Amino acid sequence: MADLTIPQDLLPQDGRFGAGPSRVSSQQLDHLIRNASLLGTSHRQAPVKELVGRIQGALAAYFRLPEGYEVVLGNGGSTAFWDVAAVSLAKNRSAHLSFGEFGAKCVKAHTTPWLEAPHVVTSEPGTRGVLEAVEGVDLYAWPHNETSTGVMAPVHRIAGADSGALMMVDATSAAGGLDFEASEVDVYYFAPQKNFASDGGLWFALLSPAAIERAFEVTATDRYIPDFLSLTQAIENSRLNQTLNTPALTTLLLMESQLEWMMSLGGLSAAATHTQESSALLYDWAESRSDVSAFVADPAHRSHVVVTLDMDDSIDASRVTSVLRANGIVDTEPYRKLGRNQIRIATFVGVPHSDVEKLIASLDYVLENL
Ligand SMILES: *Cc1c(COP(=O)(O)O)cnc(C)c1O
Repeated sequence: MADLTIPQDLLPQDGRFGAGPSRVSSQQLDHLIRNASLLGTSHRQAPVKELVGRIQGALAAYFRLPEGYEVVLGNGGSTAFWDVAAVSLAKNRSAHLSFGEFGAKCVKAHTTPWLEAPHVVTSEPGTRGVLEAVEGVDLYAWPHNETSTGVMAPVHRIAGADSGALMMVDATSAAGGLDFEASEVDVYYFAPQKNFASDGGLWFALLSPAAIERAFEVTATDRYIPDFLSLTQAIENSRLNQTLNTPALTTLLLMESQLEWMMSLGGLSAAATHTQESSALLYDWAESRSDVSAFVADPAHRSHVVVTLDMDDSIDASRVTSVLRANGIVDTEPYRKLGRNQIRIATFVGVPHSDVEKLIASLDYVLENL
């Protein structure tokens, strides 16, 4: 099937373009080796607690957290955090902007016997609706970047929301690569296998004082909260630079290294400029071809970190992605459930412009020679 060989000089240095897990750099692996003596040691002792503390401090600096915000972490990745939020943060009713698979999964997690049915604004894949204030809603939730469709959304407080209502953003694929003001959000959560180029299995949440207060308020009610989903337990452990149960130490070390590197680039705004430029290379390329087009019609909604490009009927995108795969360029397939004749490319912070340029050269070669 993939009997087309892309010339060596057109290939990217690193062929990993997946939307998570994403490419891990050799610099991160070096950091892992240099700190290998931490592996296999107790997460309740100073060396690992210091590592956790350094990551918390670096995240607070990277995201320019206002006074009183805390960096909390726990096991289970972003999917676990949806349940944490439903059990530990939502009081009576949540409202959601849902414009793809991940936003929809967050809605599902908040459809529970103890909460009123969520208010949901949905839209067709590739588009985004508008979430407005709804009386009685105490938690507003939306993704910063919908990884399944390549649509991004701004991070701003919803005007007219009930006082005390929390703003909660799923930043799993956005965090680190899209700029925003932390004061506009109460709960900004993510897992480290996307822009932070680490492994999955952990969640991080940047919590405002209001979110922390809410967690303790909900815990004080008679709602049953399993320990694993208890945000107050996570907060209390995080204050001691720990997690409720054992974290993956490799994941933490890879995260630390990438975060240091991202800080050295110039921090969040520099990283966001980088992803904006990388994604523009791809959107401009699509614009320049008659047989490829951006899936997301509104240019302002087009993601800077996950680029989705439709191919017209003359091209079989699955054949393109399998030829790329056979040539070492992997994970350009579209989100599996979207079912479109499409390619999807992550332009996370760790992907250099030169690799995006080479990917484009490879794509041109494949499209001319298939
Ligand atoms: C990848 C992703 C998730 C799922 O993350 P897990 O750590 O695998 O649970 C959730 N939301 C968004 C927006 C994602 O991109």
